[in-house]
Amino acid sequence: IEGVFALYPAQAGAGPSPRLRAALDILEILALLGLDDEALVAGLFCVPMLEGKLSLETIRGAEGETCARLLAGVQRMDALHVGPDEGAGRGSLASRERQGEKLRRMLVSLIDDPRVALVKLAERVQALRSLGTRDTGPVAVKLAREAMDIYAPLAHRLGVGQIKWEIEDLAFRHIHPAEYRRIAALLDERRTDRERFIGEASARLGAALAAAGIEAHVSGRVKHLYSIWRKMQRKGLEISEVYDVRALRVMVAGPTECYSALGTVHGLWRNLPGEFDDYIANPKPNGYRSLHTAVMGEGGKVLEVQIRTADMHREAEFGICAHWHYKGVD
Ligand code: AMP
Ligand code: MG
Repeated sequence: IEGVFALYPAQAGAGPSPRLRAALDILEILALLGLDDEALVAGLFCVPMLEGKLSLETIRGAEGETCARLLAGVQRMDALHVGPDEGAGRGSLASRERQGEKLRRMLVSLIDDPRVALVKLAERVQALRSLGTRDTGPVAVKLAREAMDIYAPLAHRLGVGQIKWEIEDLAFRHIHPAEYRRIAALLDERRTDRERFIGEASARLGAALAAAGIEAHVSGRVKHLYSIWRKMQRKGLEISEVYDVRALRVMVAGPTECYSALGTVHGLWRNLPGEFDDYIANPKPNGYRSLHTAVMGEGGKVLEVQIRTADMHREAEFGICAHWHYKGVD
């Protein structure tokens, strides 16, 4: 860390430079993903390295072979960035997708260590964050398109959902600013408020299940803006018809307990008519099993609840059906 501070000395009265803040941001993203020290150091030095302020030889001497090798990989990936007049910013959607797929393949072929891709992804997330909310000029749009076409699918392939959602939401804001604002206005609630709602609903359901003697694990998530928009587009829905904007998931021991837990859910909150699906009795064509219901939660807010066993969860998330259940591109 001292090394990076030394490269970007603070200007008197001006606080830390944007490049220093970028390096620390990347470090934080990688630390939250739980990466090891070598990858963290690579993340810290990737901004000065890409800026040409620090050579790979210097890094090798100071931080060792592994860190230098990771950064060499990041540099190779960086070399594939589209130029100012070509690629991701232009052409039809189909040709952009073809080009995105081609680039993605090239990128994947360059990655000999998944940590290389994670450092690069963290660097792109930081770049998107630093665009801020106002800069919607052509450079910002190009960066956002490239992130959406190449880096979000790469994050999806590596299974880092956190990164994927953040890239998509940040990029969405620049690619379709009016749509982004429209969805945000329709939601009419900050993300932190939606997260608090989920936390409270989850605690309430957990307590009710415990009181009913059902051993269960409850988790939840709020749907990301881009994912909400995609669903509205794909199915021609109003936002009020997207029932999984706020959602809980209950994991229980066996199929019988799934139905008991469903009883507890419906005892707590009123079920929306026609919104119960029994994919345990009738699995989806891809083998997906779970109980799905939508209920009227606190304050009249709709809440989706999925109920499943650990086996069903594994099949859904990691089995061959994981790929098409959650409509990822790959
Ligand atoms: P979606 O927005 O429905 O495409 O889902 C995005 C992510 O949220 C995926 O990683 C899902 O596993 C997760 N997810 C979807 N539905 C639920 C739910 N009811 N409870 C908890 N997590 C969910
Ligand atoms: Mg869903």
